[in-house]
Amino acid sequence: MRAIIVGGGIGGLTAAAALHRRGWEVEVLERAPAFTEVGAGLMVQPNALRALDTLDLGDTVRAQAPSGPPGGLREPGGGWLTRPDAADLQRRFGQWVMLHRADMLNLLLKKVPSNALRSGVEVREVRPEDGTVLHSEGTSAGDLVVGADGLRSVVRRSVWPDAVAPRYAGYTTWRLLVPAHPVEGLVETWGRGERFGYAPLPDGRIYCYATFRAPEGRLSDLAEVRRRFGKWHDPIPALLASVEEKDALQHDTYDLSSLPSYAKGKVVVLGDAAHAMTPNLGQGACQAMEDAVVLAAAMADGGGPVAYDKARRARTQMVVRQSRRLGVMAHLNVPGLTNVRNAAMKLSPASAFVKQVAPVVGWKPE
Ligand SMILES: Cc1cc2nc3c(=O)[nH]c(=O)nc-3n(C[C@H](O)[C@H](O)[C@H](O)COP(=O)(O)OP(=O)(O)OC[C@H]3O[C@@H](n4cnc5c(N)ncnc54)[C@H](O)[C@@H]3O)c2cc1C
Repeated sequence: MRAIIVGGGIGGLTAAAALHRRGWEVEVLERAPAFTEVGAGLMVQPNALRALDTLDLGDTVRAQAPSGPPGGLREPGGGWLTRPDAADLQRRFGQWVMLHRADMLNLLLKKVPSNALRSGVEVREVRPEDGTVLHSEGTSAGDLVVGADGLRSVVRRSVWPDAVAPRYAGYTTWRLLVPAHPVEGLVETWGRGERFGYAPLPDGRIYCYATFRAPEGRLSDLAEVRRRFGKWHDPIPALLASVEEKDALQHDTYDLSSLPSYAKGKVVVLGDAAHAMTPNLGQGACQAMEDAVVLAAAMADGGGPVAYDKARRARTQMVVRQSRRLGVMAHLNVPGLTNVRNAAMKLSPASAFVKQVAPVVGWKPE
């Protein structure tokens, strides 16, 4: 059996690894000239690590970094809004790992035969009825076509041309890679309509992200990021002072929660192509990894694309909605409302955080 995988990002490569492990011949078509990821951090949460366990990759990723679960939320002045019990979270759900995206991609690449990887090939159309894929180098055909081609998926548009387009969430995101600096773990700080997070990477560098409300498509610059966050609590001013332009990336934030199906004929979609989500829960790539291993299992046990859709659609669309709601809370910018929000968060018990994350990070492959 042969699978054509469109897109060699984290979702596509996990799918290639999972299908290859189940005996499929795989071909990965990636439009970029090389298999690579943007220079930023990636939080791999316990649910995704369990997905990776099915590929014998979970422990390799766990060994990359000693990073623990999210360390809590602060106010710009430094006070704590919530501070989850890290030991309890780890006992309940397992390890969280923050690593560089390129490192995650390289670990996945080792699980896919090198002759299956075709970069510089742009897919233009797919045909669900016979598994034909039309691309810049000609055509490929498979018993299964996996659309793992991200937010602006050609596969999705080819199969569901009338599906609603991804929705702009109302805020833009900056990702920064900062030279080594002491930080207390993964911490996020919420202001009014803007927030800042930081976490150590395995090599000591610090991955930071900053989000703020902005009209869709408005380009900002590092000077604006420094102006907005440069007076927040330590170590944020020092982190912002040491970041270089070349290590800063801006992207607008989108999600997609309404695709009517993830499967049609011989074609399935996964990851951002199926359910792009805001980064608020740090689950986009984690859900793509879940998708990939569930797809491989469904293809192996005879359920096929329909069983994959049934197993994944409700869950992933729930995560999209949960992430969207968190984003609305995080980006409140009306002073009265942010005060109420902050007061409520300070009063909420640690168990509330456990209850909120359990359905997402508690996932286990069947
Ligand atoms: C700021 C930010 C922070 C985030 N942090 C986290 C986090 O901590 N943890 C987490 O789990 N998730 C996180 N996410 C989400 C995560 O990055 C995405 O959900 C994940 O990368 C999606 O993977 P994917 O493989 O589905 O798509 P992509 O990574 O977008 O990969 C798609 C691939 O397909 C290729 N492609 C596209 N079109 C074509 C075509 N026509 N032909 C051939 N190839 C094509 C692209 O070049 C690309 O390589 C974050 C997202 C953002 C924006």
